[in-house]
Amino acid sequence: MAVDATLPYDDQNVFAKILRGEIPNRTVYEDDFALVFHDINPQAPTHVLVIPKGAYVCWDDFSAKASDAEIAGFVRAVGKVARDLGLVAPGYRLLANTGTNSHQEVPHLHVHLFAGQPLGPMLVR
Ligand code: AMP
Repeated sequence: MAVDATLPYDDQNVFAKILRGEIPNRTVYEDDFALVFHDINPQAPTHVLVIPKGAYVCWDDFSAKASDAEIAGFVRAVGKVARDLGLVAPGYRLLANTGTNSHQEVPHLHVHLFAGQPLGPMLVR
């Protein structure tokens, strides 16, 4: 079910449990600000999720409330992972679903990073 992005943070969401080590994940990268791991149901040959370590529901929450250091750290982690995975030259796509119309399912901010093949049109028509 899609997330109401205006609700308060729910610390029982699956990515909060991953951050606390209560659920396993296939980690690609981790630093003080971000955790990057493989999506459990990949939609492309490369499909990883970049999440901030802080408790933010979605892009709106993060952009309004995170510190400058958290925002810089998170954005740099996205770029670093893409570079480290060799995705800059072939290209990649970032996606951050926010709220009901986007079908956000997990109420902890995550950026999807897709790559590894031509990724098709930007949106289903
Ligand atoms: P969204 O619809 O943007 O909220 O995307 C949520 C994503 O989280 C989906 O692509 C799921 O496959 C992925 N996902 C859900 N649970 C897990 C998990 N335990 N480990 C890794 N990815 C997950």
